[in-house]
Amino acid sequence: MISKSKPVSDHLVQSGRPAGNDGRHVNLPIELGSTIVFDTLAAFEAARDARYETGTMYYGRYGNEATFQLEHALAELDSAAGVTLTSSGVAAISLTLMTFARPGSHLLVIDNAYANTRAFCEKVLKAMDVEVEYFDPMIGSGLADLLRDTTCAVMLEAPGSGTFEVPDIPTIAAAARAANVPSILDNTWTTPLFCKPLELGVDVSVASGSKFLSGHSDCMMGVIASTAEHHKAIRQTVMAVGDKTGGQEVFLMLRGLRTLKIRMEAIDAAGREMAAWMAEQPQVKRVLHPAFDSCPGHQHWARDFSGSAGLFGVVFHPCSDDQIRAFVDALHHFGIGVSWGGFESLVLPVKPLRVATPWTEEGQLVRFNIGLEDTESLKADIAAALPLLTS
Ligand SMILES: *Cc1c(COP(=O)(O)O)cnc(C)c1O
Repeated sequence: MISKSKPVSDHLVQSGRPAGNDGRHVNLPIELGSTIVFDTLAAFEAARDARYETGTMYYGRYGNEATFQLEHALAELDSAAGVTLTSSGVAAISLTLMTFARPGSHLLVIDNAYANTRAFCEKVLKAMDVEVEYFDPMIGSGLADLLRDTTCAVMLEAPGSGTFEVPDIPTIAAAARAANVPSILDNTWTTPLFCKPLELGVDVSVASGSKFLSGHSDCMMGVIASTAEHHKAIRQTVMAVGDKTGGQEVFLMLRGLRTLKIRMEAIDAAGREMAAWMAEQPQVKRVLHPAFDSCPGHQHWARDFSGSAGLFGVVFHPCSDDQIRAFVDALHHFGIGVSWGGFESLVLPVKPLRVATPWTEEGQLVRFNIGLEDTESLKADIAAALPLLTS
């Protein structure tokens, strides 16, 4: 855990690289390698026996110095006992779920989960005879009523993908913990900089490193941060499946971490400025941004988060799909594409996938990712396209 005497800015600059300045580069080199060699069989055997421990140099698939430095830095940031890195955010989610799910068990999943979390449940876990039940993101203490003897885990996300409801994390996590069921939270949206799930009672905090943590749309990685109780089991699953991160990605993540705070602060401010401006446009019905009280669960965000990301939803008054397509195509400063959390603005229409709580809101939902461009340019771009929604 980062000590109170060490500001997070110092941590982001200093962690994840060797201490001291002994005639070397500021950054660790891109570390590539498969075989690691030893002088004695005894040293090799000691490394083999400790291969699941962060910091043990044994074989490339288990990590190297740069990987371990990054894991330490992220564990501190997330108040975690340990971190295991994966090849993508999706791998972090699926390998965590795989650690807990067993044939015949029951898994609770929040109904606004990321589409690929749902895909893993539907395509893989169900085929392995795991019963998957989706629940209302606003369930709060009602989650206790859904827990069974066979429940293997509770999967949360805050805020939810596409629709941005913010669940009552501590209440849900406490209900799960009281029944000895591990809770997992997808914390990709603001990263552990602005929300610390483990301090809210969650057992495992997962995130896509491809978004804000690396921050430049040039890296794919996943992060699994957990309490001591679950760290080893998760790490063994990741190693047993054979997932691994690449040396170049580890380098890019360590570099992204250095500027995480200033990027997030700038993007948070720009995102709120854009959301407030959007809310005033006549074509807009409401904005789904956790920092605004038009977003369900805003009070949970205000209590549990210290900032927000630049990704939010806008519900436009009812119009046709063709009008939305024309509006999106007319934007010049917003790329059309999946993922987010880089330096560039993006836009994408969203059709929420729901099971437990159907999405009945009238109107068209569009997701905006605000990057680091000039906000006046972004407003002018949107203002020029908005009339397409009413013509
Ligand atoms: C993008 C995303 C992921 C998946 O991350 P990848 O690194 O793209 O695999 C997981 N959860 C959320 C909420 C995401 O937005």
